[in-house]
Amino acid sequence: MTPKERMALPPQEMPQQDPAVRAHNMNEVALGYTAEMAKAEASRCLQCPTKPCMQGCPVAINIPGFLAKAAAGDFAGALRVIKETSLLPAVCGRVCPQEKQCQKFCTMGKLLKDVEKSVAIGRVERFCADLARETGAEEPVACAPKTGRKVAVIGSGPASITCAADCAKAGHAVTLFEAFHKCGGVLVYGIPEFRLPKAIVQHEIEGLEKLGVTIDTNYVVGRTRKLKDLLEKDGFDAVFVGTGAGLPKFMGIEGENLNGVFSANEYLTRANLMKAYREGQADTPFWHGKKVAVLGGGNVAMDASRMALRLGAEKVYLVYRRSEAEMPARREEVHHAKEEGVEFHLLENAKRILGDGHGAVAGLECLKYELGAPDASGRRSPVAIPGSEFTLDVDTVVVAVGNASNPLIPATTEGLEVNRRGNIVVNPETNMTRRLRGRRHRARRGDGHPRDGRGPARGRRHQRLPHQR
Ligand SMILES: Cc1cc2nc3c(=O)[nH]c(=O)nc-3n(C[C@H](O)[C@H](O)[C@H](O)COP(=O)(O)OP(=O)(O)OC[C@H]3O[C@@H](n4cnc5c(N)ncnc54)[C@H](O)[C@@H]3O)c2cc1C
Ligand code: SF4
Repeated sequence: MTPKERMALPPQEMPQQDPAVRAHNMNEVALGYTAEMAKAEASRCLQCPTKPCMQGCPVAINIPGFLAKAAAGDFAGALRVIKETSLLPAVCGRVCPQEKQCQKFCTMGKLLKDVEKSVAIGRVERFCADLARETGAEEPVACAPKTGRKVAVIGSGPASITCAADCAKAGHAVTLFEAFHKCGGVLVYGIPEFRLPKAIVQHEIEGLEKLGVTIDTNYVVGRTRKLKDLLEKDGFDAVFVGTGAGLPKFMGIEGENLNGVFSANEYLTRANLMKAYREGQADTPFWHGKKVAVLGGGNVAMDASRMALRLGAEKVYLVYRRSEAEMPARREEVHHAKEEGVEFHLLENAKRILGDGHGAVAGLECLKYELGAPDASGRRSPVAIPGSEFTLDVDTVVVAVGNASNPLIPATTEGLEVNRRGNIVVNPETNMTRRLRGRRHRARRGDGHPRDGRGPARGRRHQRLPHQR
């Protein structure tokens, strides 16, 4: 086919559940391509010699390489190419923000002047992975001979799954420690079933077990055992900290302690991990919010608002202080939320949560906003319009304005260096942590040293953890 003929091929739409039906069930929204659709979409690829799409892929998948095989109907070959650098194609094909990554750089999208018309790389990737899983055609993964080294992996989200698999393939003995009773991190407790079926995540966890990874759940590093104990007493040669960013942020406004106010983390964890929607069967209580306001504009806010519909809410308002153009959520998720009936309140923000006098939410007082000059993030900053207050009639408020990293491991690991936000500091080239000497660490923590609160002195020396020596 000539490039002109490829450009004339129509983009393959993703089949999906009817919005009116899917807003009330937990089944996956996007139904996936057929083999014919996957071939047709892959055939749109121009096989650009400079491979611009690869620039946008964080794991550098050979995108034209796998698309060429898919276009020829060799889906097993395509998956082999993907798996050279990516371990989680069924997950990434579903939830990666392709429009901001590979597809943003795609020549086809640029020629057609619309990123939505780029080759749908993620959808073809998903098809190849699903086909192999569903037909039992996955190829066994080879592991290097045993090295005799032990690696502890803390957490079981996508970062830890990838690290555990890479270490196991390199021949190390890997143990994965997860605080929850189920593995998968945000893939199981945050992202809902209707976007990422949990059976797919479970399949990846089983893949780890097949590689010989030992999985220890209900194990909170810092409580069950300290990170230092793993290195100094339990014989691990290295520890990977993949504990994610599970500490929810709140707005800091009046009324956030009322009954009916949830962090999106709690709201989604109850629904996803604890299956609260299976009323009468789940141990977790079910919150019957009928009029729900979700605060935020990211993927988490989209998931929480769409989940609220599925949990029986009659009205769901998404309150975001900027305009749609500034929303960090994936475009597809914004589109799906609107289709399902979530009401968008843009350029508005919560001022205070109103109570009913008995400790429960009775409404949300909001302010209207307009866009000012761009801020440090490059996005136009929201400016409140004085006197524009109005009230939304709600009984539930879900706060989805971001997360920070959990402080437990830094707090229980003497000398582990963190920055002002509490994130562990690593060498950007090696990703290794640094460990401060005792006196300087006490200064950083502010417990009596003359330099309290001012951070460490310049030119400090770092002591390495045992696995880094
Ligand atoms: C609701 C939601 C929707 C999202 N949607 C998208 C999306 O569509 N696309 C996208 O690209 N990204 C999305 N993200 C972001 C993405 O999920 C995260 O970037 C990703 O999961 C981070 O992976 P991780 O492995 O670092 O951590 P996580 O997935 O957070 O996993 C960390 C794990 O560590 C465990 N843990 C924490 N502390 C300890 C401890 N002390 N001991 C033992 N275990 C511990 C936690 O229980 C958890 O299981 C979303 C996030 C959320 C919350
Ligand atoms: S940029 Fe687009 S068209 Fe070019 S090789 Fe990559 S996927 Fe194919």
